[in-house]
Amino acid sequence: MSKEKKILGIESSHKRAIRKLYTLRASRFAIQVIFLIIANESLNLLLPLPVIGLSYPWTSFPSALDMLQAMIILLIPPLLPLGSIIFFNALFGRIFCGWICPFGFVQDVIHYLTSSKNFIKSSLHSRLKYIKYIIAVFSILIFIGWAYLDSINQLNSLASTYGRGVALMPYTSFSPDATLFGTLLFIFSLGILPNSISSFFSSFNAAIFIRYLILILVLLACSRVTRFWCRYVCPMGAINATFSTRSALGIYRDVGKCDDCGICNKICPVQIDVVNAKLGRIDSKECIMCFECVAACHTRALNVTFKRR
Ligand code: SF4
Ligand code: SF4
Repeated sequence: MSKEKKILGIESSHKRAIRKLYTLRASRFAIQVIFLIIANESLNLLLPLPVIGLSYPWTSFPSALDMLQAMIILLIPPLLPLGSIIFFNALFGRIFCGWICPFGFVQDVIHYLTSSKNFIKSSLHSRLKYIKYIIAVFSILIFIGWAYLDSINQLNSLASTYGRGVALMPYTSFSPDATLFGTLLFIFSLGILPNSISSFFSSFNAAIFIRYLILILVLLACSRVTRFWCRYVCPMGAINATFSTRSALGIYRDVGKCDDCGICNKICPVQIDVVNAKLGRIDSKECIMCFECVAACHTRALNVTFKRR
């Protein structure tokens, strides 16, 4: 092949990859918006869209952690949330994180608005990503502790002191996604804001202050590092990762086709070393299945498949 033809071939394959990438982004964005609407009854209150505020069992899928904690605390076997977590992650990997989770979507929007960094120092990233597992274990231990309080009839006094939410869902009471989609939108939907700013502030207490502080800090961190919450903090992400380790759906790199250009590494929002994927399979624990690397690959060296390699 002549040199010119080779250059033209590379250019057209790059153009094709860019087109694929934008199509994929638009599709993912549309699906995330649909799930944002479906998963948030508070949003439906704010914007009365023709979408039914969905409840069990469907919410047990997008809000599996909420269900898990409430059921553990009330000593009900959490079969539905646990089953849905295991089933979806074992089958599709962390597709929930890449395409469905409303807070993941918020972080993607922040990324596009602020151009947050995809990369931080590798050694720091490798250490930080274990924090979410520690938070997940710690949260489950708290749920079990709360269940013990329930069994000795102490949960009611906790509920009367700190509110029913803290008693039944201690994690959700402080998680930034619940603050953003639950509390804030609910307050707006009640018409408390902007009609009565003073009543909003008079309802402020230490717990609400901590909630908003956590939310602001997390959003700020996400404006610096892409998907900061998912990478390092989210216990739901850690639980999803645990069951995604050998998911049926996987992304594989064909070493023969790969020209080591490194575009996949640069584009990955969660800093996965796609180019050096061990045995050709991308790290399914940390991968959020956004498929951006697959679309951006101009040699078609990356494949999404159920076939194990
Ligand atoms: S890691 Fe957590 S916040 Fe991020 S997408 Fe997954 S479930 Fe959502
Ligand atoms: S490895 Fe690819 S599919 Fe997985 S998160 Fe990174 S860019 Fe998305």
